[in-house]
Amino acid sequence: MPEQATAPLAGLPGRVSIYEVGARDGLQNESALVPVAVKADFVRRLLAAGLTAVETTSLVRPEWVPQLADAEELLAELGPTPAGLRMPALVPNRRGLDRALAAGVREIAVFASATETFARKNLNRGLAESLDVFEPVVTAARAAGLAVRGYVSMCFGDPWEGAVDPAQVARVVHALWDMGAQEISLGDTIGVATPGQVVAVLEELPVPREAVAVHFHDTYGQALANTLVALQHGVTTVDSSAGGLGGCPYAKSATGNLATEDLVWQLHGLGIETGVDLAALVATSTWMATQLGRPSPSRVVTALASSATAEEA
Ligand code: MG
Repeated sequence: MPEQATAPLAGLPGRVSIYEVGARDGLQNESALVPVAVKADFVRRLLAAGLTAVETTSLVRPEWVPQLADAEELLAELGPTPAGLRMPALVPNRRGLDRALAAGVREIAVFASATETFARKNLNRGLAESLDVFEPVVTAARAAGLAVRGYVSMCFGDPWEGAVDPAQVARVVHALWDMGAQEISLGDTIGVATPGQVVAVLEELPVPREAVAVHFHDTYGQALANTLVALQHGVTTVDSSAGGLGGCPYAKSATGNLATEDLVWQLHGLGIETGVDLAALVATSTWMATQLGRPSPSRVVTALASSATAEEA
């Protein structure tokens, strides 16, 4: 792997927590079913590469997302969450929470929408009604001692509604925070955000900046620019997907999740600590790409995997 030069920039955090979504958000958008043993290896390899927050699966009804129908099997295979690590699972409702508790999950995530139309399309309920469903789930999860993350999707644009008012995002964030969610992830689900918009949304938020995570998609090539401006505005948790796994669900053949390797390259170049071993992560994503039968869309995986091949040759 080529040596990477580092040069700090003023006004950035010394350390960033990466929240890895490849095993859930990434694989959920892959049509080819991945065997549970491969998923378990994937999660273990991500943890071994130094990622400390790895979302594992989603406890949705198996018929809704066939890729995640093996959730309990995967969680049993992975065993209890080791001390100091986060291995959350997504939970859509009370039934999902009961399954998560039975499986020994220590942290859950709920998935809200910033817009009415996406709530109806994705959650089959209106925005207010979907928040009403989450409230007892979050309350019960906190009462059981679980940590809770709240996702808010479509924070920067919606394929049906177009522009999204930052005040609307703030209302949904506030609702989740009020329920007891401890971390709120702002999703750019269709990847349309640009840096000025990111700042406009962050400045509107009624919660401490330490509780905010950003979840950018690279569909329009803006994910790293948006990440940098979020870090400059006090965000220290960034969601990303190993190898850029998971296409854009609303534009076939377009890039979706920000690749963890691309994020790590930028952070390490800025001298920001992540705890991640980039070479081990690239090896993991290269292995996963072989399992899926197609190359990783990550620029950094492509660059480093080909330089590794050149060194071997
Ligand atoms: Mg995503």
